[in-house]
Amino acid sequence: AKERGRNKFEFYNDQLNFSYSNKTGLEQELHLAYKNNEFELFFQPQVALESGIMLAVEVLLRWRKSRDEVLPPADFLSLLEDMGLIIQVGNWVLEQACYYRESWRQQGLISDTCTICVNLSAKQIIEPDFADMVKYTLAQTKMPAHLLELEITESILLEDQDSVSEALLELQALGILVAIDDFGTGYSSFSYLKSFPVDILKIDRSFVFDVCSDPDSAAIVTSIINLAHDLGMQVVGEGVEDDYALRYLIDHKCDRVQGYLFSKPLPYCEFMAYIEDQTAE
Ligand code: C2E
Ligand code: CA
Ligand code: CA
Ligand code: CA
Repeated sequence: AKERGRNKFEFYNDQLNFSYSNKTGLEQELHLAYKNNEFELFFQPQVALESGIMLAVEVLLRWRKSRDEVLPPADFLSLLEDMGLIIQVGNWVLEQACYYRESWRQQGLISDTCTICVNLSAKQIIEPDFADMVKYTLAQTKMPAHLLELEITESILLEDQDSVSEALLELQALGILVAIDDFGTGYSSFSYLKSFPVDILKIDRSFVFDVCSDPDSAAIVTSIINLAHDLGMQVVGEGVEDDYALRYLIDHKCDRVQGYLFSKPLPYCEFMAYIEDQTAE
């Protein structure tokens, strides 16, 4: 019987190996990328409309496959989410972001109120210990909570709304800011803005992009700005690529802007140079 048991074990073991080798090559590569620290953050500023002062920095995930090959999230994020690896990678993103922000604070490199913005996947927020993880990271990095902005998309509202809003409320009580990303592109109704703790709306760049040539986009952008302000929220225009879009957002009293007109997302060293440039002016 013992002998049979062992064979049985080996049989199952073979099966496991078999299914492992059946994983797509990209999944295995992503596991290795995480293990070998190939993920990296790029940084993109958000600036105040009139003064041009940097009000926030968004961190954006990249996969550096080799020195000159850097992949954007479009190439791997949905697979990271399907694999569940987004939990670990997302924790790492948050930790890095807080770590950098706190080191800039200690060095006095950027303004005391400039926030750091971190994108979250639905998978991360529905983890039962999500709020605890964020608190732990703040404690570890010593970064003040009010300097952290968490960006979520409306798709998160398709998840368990009670547990998500409970976690966000708990974090908001600490001073963390909550932003709705890609606002206007989701399928949800406005009602969640009443029950959800939201501080900031980010207008999706598909509306900002042609705000000056498409009257529909212009109407949507104006409405989102007014809605945000009527609800006591701040509003950010994303994807600002030219002076026309910028002029429109200034005229309609948008609070902050982000886009290639100011800077592309930059790797760490280039972002440091950008900051020095700004303070030198
Ligand atoms: P997002 O949060 O909407 O981020 C803005 C995206 O627009 C970025 O793409 C950025 O490079 C791009 N962008 C910024 N300014 C302009 C502009 O003026 N014109 C145009 N055409 N594009 C502009 P990126 O870095 O490829 O990121 C794509 C998406 O991946 C992000 O969209 C976000 O949803 C997701 N993502 C990025 N980093 C993370 C992360 O750490 N965690 C999670 N869960 N998602 C992330
Ligand atoms: Ca974002
Ligand atoms: Ca966005
Ligand atoms: Ca987007």
